[in-house]
This record gives sequence, C-alpha cells and structure tokens, in this order.
Amino acid sequence: GPVTKAIQDAFFGIVRGEIPATVVLQDEHALVFMDIGSVNPGHMLVAAKPHVENLQGMAAELAGAMFRSAARAARAIEAVFRPAGISVYQANGAAAGQTVFHAHIHVLPRWENDGLTFTWPVKHPSREELERVAAQLRAAL
Ligand code: AMP
Repeated sequence: GPVTKAIQDAFFGIVRGEIPATVVLQDEHALVFMDIGSVNPGHMLVAAKPHVENLQGMAAELAGAMFRSAARAARAIEAVFRPAGISVYQANGAAAGQTVFHAHIHVLPRWENDGLTFTWPVKHPSREELERVAAQLRAAL
C-alpha cells in the first residue's frame, strides 16, 4: 500500500543521502544509521550503498564490506552499552521477515528478557539427508 511505498522510498532516499537519517558510520559500500523502529537503544541498520535487494544479490566485495561495518557497529555497541549480548539479524524476502527491500543488516544490543523472541523449529535430519542437500548446494556454488 501507500504507507509501505513511502517507507521504501524513505529508505532508498537515506542510502542515497537524499533523506536525513541519524548516521553513525559510513564508507563507500555501506551506511550505518539508527533504526527508527529500534527494539533496544543502540539498534542500528547497516544498509548497502548501491541498490541491492538482498544478500543473494550482494557482490563479494559488498558482502565483505557490509559485515565489516556490522562488526564495527557491534564493537561500538559493546563499548557504549556493555550489553548482555548483541544480535545480528538480516532478512531476505517477506517470508523471512524482510519489510524494506533494500539489503540491510540489523545490529542491536540484547538484554535478558528484552522481549525479542524467535522460534527456532529444529528438525533432526539424518546424516544421509544432510549429505544429499550439501551435494546439491556444492553443485550450485
Ligand atoms: P526489515 O524488517 O529487516 O526489512 O527491517 C526494516 C527496518 O527498517 C525496520 O526495523 C524499520 O524500523 C527500519 N526503518 C524503516 N524506515 C526507516 C527510516 N526511515 N529510518 C530508519 N529506520 C527505518
């Protein structure tokens, strides 16, 4: 809808430097800024400078640079908040929870019982099954 469209436009505008945001760090590959929907104080987004929708679309150099910035952001969180933990979250596709279709990595401080929950429905595939899937994946690299 129109609200979703406005959010997308704002986000793309931010990485292009056309719309103001609270920027923490940037280099030629990535812009790190505060998330307006922060789960905890210190919640930052590492957004790709070029328009790329998701992780699958990132060239090797961009992918490396994005994670380098995420690590710097995490060290800043550590220094400022001394949190109980730090989470990194990166969604690709609506089914994975992506709401803004311009690639970004969430980096946020974590506290015991901070209300961020995630269900992780573990399966226990056989070694044979793991080998079968791994063979498909290796062939696709
Ligand atoms: P995701 O669900 O991973 O696609 O996350 C999108 C994130 O972008 C959410 O956490 C929003 O709070 C955040 N966000 C959306 N628009 C803005 C904006 N204009 N400035 C800062 N953060 C934003």
